[in-house]
Amino acid sequence: MTEALLRQQLVDECQRLGEDGLLALAAGNVSCRFESGMLITASGVCTSSITSESIVRMSLDGQSDNVLKPSSEWQMHAAVYREMPDVQALVHTHADSCVAVACHGKDLPGFHYMVGMLGLDHVPCVEYHTFGTRALAEAAVSGLRACDACLLAKHGMLSKGASLKQAADSARLLEVLCRQYLLSLAIGPPLELNSKQWAEFFAQMKQTDYQAVQ
Ligand SMILES: [Zn+2]
Repeated sequence: MTEALLRQQLVDECQRLGEDGLLALAAGNVSCRFESGMLITASGVCTSSITSESIVRMSLDGQSDNVLKPSSEWQMHAAVYREMPDVQALVHTHADSCVAVACHGKDLPGFHYMVGMLGLDHVPCVEYHTFGTRALAEAAVSGLRACDACLLAKHGMLSKGASLKQAADSARLLEVLCRQYLLSLAIGPPLELNSKQWAEFFAQMKQTDYQAVQ
């Protein structure tokens, strides 16, 4: 895919995420792998005014000749691309419901079977570190090892995908699940799927995927 096309896809996806309310107040950033580096939204970009010029091309060690500065979280994106060759795109947001759960520093529990669609019987919440640091980047990598998304304590969330659409869809799913979890807490801690139910869920997922490619 050409750089121009990827830039346009990033712009389109940022606008959709903005319309969905996931990227309010220029908080959050989106990237995709490009050649040996990545394309990432510039620092402070608003989804209402984003253009293909608002995207910075850079290497995974932080080199860029763009006049605009990349997102302050470029290290978090670069670390995932370095560590996970299959990942093609990443979405980082401060979406309301994700933040509301993440500010307790707790994993999103397996209260609903759709949690498992992200890969595990819970969504991990990684430890807090100052924004833009290598420590936060390393924590985020650990959170995404077995799961398509993770919460970042007292900060937000990060999701990965084999495409930009996949990463964005995981971000949307996590926001919906966090909202539903918060709603359920209004009448007490919700039930969670037990280990047998999770085993059956993942077996069913495997079976469905298997059939889907037939
Ligand atoms: Zn952030």
